[in-house]
Amino acid sequence: MQPLDLFYPQLNTPSKVVITMHQKPDGDAMGSALGLYHFLIAIGHEATVISPTNWADFLDWMPGIDRVIDFEQQKEKCLGIIKNAGMIFCLDFNVLHRTKHMEQPLLAAQCTKILIDHHEQPQVDAFTYGVSDTSKSSTCEMVYDFIVASGHADKLNTNIAECLYTGVMTDTGSFRFPATTASVHRMIADLKDIGLVHTRVHDNIYDNFLENRLRFIGYALVNRLEVLYEYNTALMYITRPDLQRYNIKTGDTEGLVNYLLTIQGIKFGALVIDREGERKWSFRSKGSFDVNTFARKHFYGGGHVNAAGGGTYDSLDETVKHFKEVIKEYQNQLQ
Ligand code: 5GP
Ligand code: MN
Repeated sequence: MQPLDLFYPQLNTPSKVVITMHQKPDGDAMGSALGLYHFLIAIGHEATVISPTNWADFLDWMPGIDRVIDFEQQKEKCLGIIKNAGMIFCLDFNVLHRTKHMEQPLLAAQCTKILIDHHEQPQVDAFTYGVSDTSKSSTCEMVYDFIVASGHADKLNTNIAECLYTGVMTDTGSFRFPATTASVHRMIADLKDIGLVHTRVHDNIYDNFLENRLRFIGYALVNRLEVLYEYNTALMYITRPDLQRYNIKTGDTEGLVNYLLTIQGIKFGALVIDREGERKWSFRSKGSFDVNTFARKHFYGGGHVNAAGGGTYDSLDETVKHFKEVIKEYQNQLQ
């Protein structure tokens, strides 16, 4: 993988561009993809955003989302677009298998592939150019840097601003995680200067759920939370019937894991949800406890030091039991 600045000259030649991100895209994945999309369109490229899977309803207000194609819904069409692409941008993931069924078509594509990402241990041999910087708050911040550093700051517009603000806001927990640097605040100031209405983004993302989601959170906090004080760890598990009872959809569980770290003294929060096909883990930590390493070692996952995920095919009971077993190894680190 060569440095991204060597790629900048290619931006001047209009091309057919595919932009993709990790499956079940979150605010940062969709925000960076659509922010980049609006930028590439503005400089004359023909760009298509392909999401590996569906996404949460709370992203549906985003400018340009009506043009995003879901690979699982329109596989043949997407395969044709990928085949004809002159370049493919891969955003907000480190390893190709995070694009689920798009992994093989992406591997097979012979065109220029560009990675922009902030996760640990990127699969660098899969990309022609790229930047992987784990110190960055979000991929959206990196797309902003890309636009500015490639000499196109004058092309920033309010569509780009809304999309990029979304990912920075969601990945920094509304500007509270340690990666919220002075540069992040400078970037937001810049976006405000070009007309960003940040309250609109916040309202659309955080204040636009249905009643059932709030009642579900209450239910989960009362009935599905276990605090393992000897490990300064909070564990939550959500069963299939829980999801059905409250009609919980993709995105409704976003942010649930963050409640675990609000308990005094808790350094490690782990949430597992009995999803269709797999038991999906979300891990969060405060301080030096490295959940990326934990997720990789025990639950086939990865991510960042303080936020990671993983999955298993074991039953919910087995995966919770496994968690309670392996956590014993970390008692010293967690005290
Ligand atoms: P979340 O808990 O919000 O789903 O994910 C937290 C972080 O870990 C995100 O940056 C996400 O991209 C990453 N992540 C989530 N699940 C996985 C996984 O199964 N494998 C890897 N490598 N990263 C994951
Ligand atoms: Mn991200």
